[in-house]
Amino acid sequence: MADTPPLWFDPHLCFIAGQWRPAQDGATLPLTNPSDGSEICQIARGQSADIDAAVAAAQAAQEGAWGEMSATERGRILTRLGQVISQNVDRLAALEVMDVGKPLTQARADAVALARYCEFYGGAADKITGDTIPYMNGYTVFTLREPFGVTGHIVPWNYPMQIIGRSVGAALAMGNSCVLKPAEEACLTALAFAHLAAEAGLPAGALNVVPGLGAEAGAALSGHGGVQHISFTGSVATGALVQAAAAKNVVPVTLELGGKSPQIVFADADLDSALPFLVNAGIQNGGQTCSAASRILVERPVYEAVKARMAAAYADLTVGPAAEDLRLGPLISTRQKEIVEGFLAKGADLEIAGQGRISDNAPEAGAYVRPTLFADVPADHPLAQQEIFGPVQVLIPFETEAEAVRIANSTDYGLVAALWTRDGARQLRLAKRLKAGQVFLNTYGAGGGVELPFGGIGKSGHGREKGFEALYGFSQLKTVAAHHG
Ligand code: NAD
Repeated sequence: MADTPPLWFDPHLCFIAGQWRPAQDGATLPLTNPSDGSEICQIARGQSADIDAAVAAAQAAQEGAWGEMSATERGRILTRLGQVISQNVDRLAALEVMDVGKPLTQARADAVALARYCEFYGGAADKITGDTIPYMNGYTVFTLREPFGVTGHIVPWNYPMQIIGRSVGAALAMGNSCVLKPAEEACLTALAFAHLAAEAGLPAGALNVVPGLGAEAGAALSGHGGVQHISFTGSVATGALVQAAAAKNVVPVTLELGGKSPQIVFADADLDSALPFLVNAGIQNGGQTCSAASRILVERPVYEAVKARMAAAYADLTVGPAAEDLRLGPLISTRQKEIVEGFLAKGADLEIAGQGRISDNAPEAGAYVRPTLFADVPADHPLAQQEIFGPVQVLIPFETEAEAVRIANSTDYGLVAALWTRDGARQLRLAKRLKAGQVFLNTYGAGGGVELPFGGIGKSGHGREKGFEALYGFSQLKTVAAHHG
């Protein structure tokens, strides 16, 4: 809709109990456009009083219309929300271009994914059942899947729409009432989601959105005694704080944290198929992706060929303003740019195999970083061990399968691993040996379908979101045993 301004609602408000209202002390925060450093607008700086109000509204919804609603009716509302989102893909994408600095094509894909999550969880809402359990004579035993009640959702800025879809969508489908704390760097689509949810008929209090700083609104939510489950997506350091805060109330936590995911290329791989995945899975969203394939392990006989082909692909990469819809936009902030540049400095002793360029149109005040591919990186080098969250990949040669597994498993993380090999036995052998929540064989990401459970092991987190698995995660099991003689 070319004549619609990107910002189609008042952005400096919280959404609580179906009402739009300022933070209780009236405080706001600036939101910055990372493509040029300009201020987009002010957003609410929610505090613990606002979180208290949101949790109270969520509790009231549990005791009212939302809590009493049948699973089928909840599913219909979510399905309708998916349709409303589908009708608003362009408006949602325009917000994300401005707020996150996402190239338009990628922002649209995120909005389509949000609609798909609502559609999937809308359809699944009344398909989750308990079991009947054979037991001693004279008993009938069955289980019920019940919502937790009030669930807290703390999300990051890199894929706001996708993460809201998989976390809030699944929690709502199971009948929970949600309090969503979006990231202070990018929260416009979270607010837009609330507008569209109200339009789709979601009852007041089923979804509440309180923007604000992590140390304020986020900490208040994760330590709140009225919340029965927390879903957190973000960094390891913050995840540990959230888990500690929730532990004080003995509240379960799902943590979706970082990664240092490897793609392992064996000499028998189909390199033509592998190449686009090797590069794209590393630089997608400027490398600001939890599942970014930041390590490329290559068997020695094809190492030089892979290096040359990836270097050529890097030479074709241009970073520019999000509105230009290049493959890469700016990073989320100049702070993130400085972090990534710090990592690039740590690689001063390494060979740079390939580099992209920054567009001549990129404003000086934007958060632009040149995509960089390092070669022959020792497996224990900081660039091969630490999550960079920028468009930076490392190439690591290996000699044997055992060495590849050892290197792949050598970080604290365990989110994704991919194998490129035509050897079926090796595929299955390594799928078991690799330390990762997801293993991809001759692909990376498998299209990212909403149906596929997703989560980490080790410092990549625990618990699973997406697919049916999320519905189990956002519900608790009750066993009912009746004695009838
Ligand atoms: P972050 O941890 O700084 O922030 C994430 C969220 O936590 C934000 O909403 C922030 O306001 C909030 N927060 C910050 N401090 C808090 C506190 N003390 N208490 C409660 N909440 C607090 O992370 P980030 O820098 O925004 O995101 C990048 C990280 O997220 C990366 O490490 C990335 O790998 C990870 N991530 C993981 C996944 C996944 O699915 N595994 C997906 C996206 C991002």
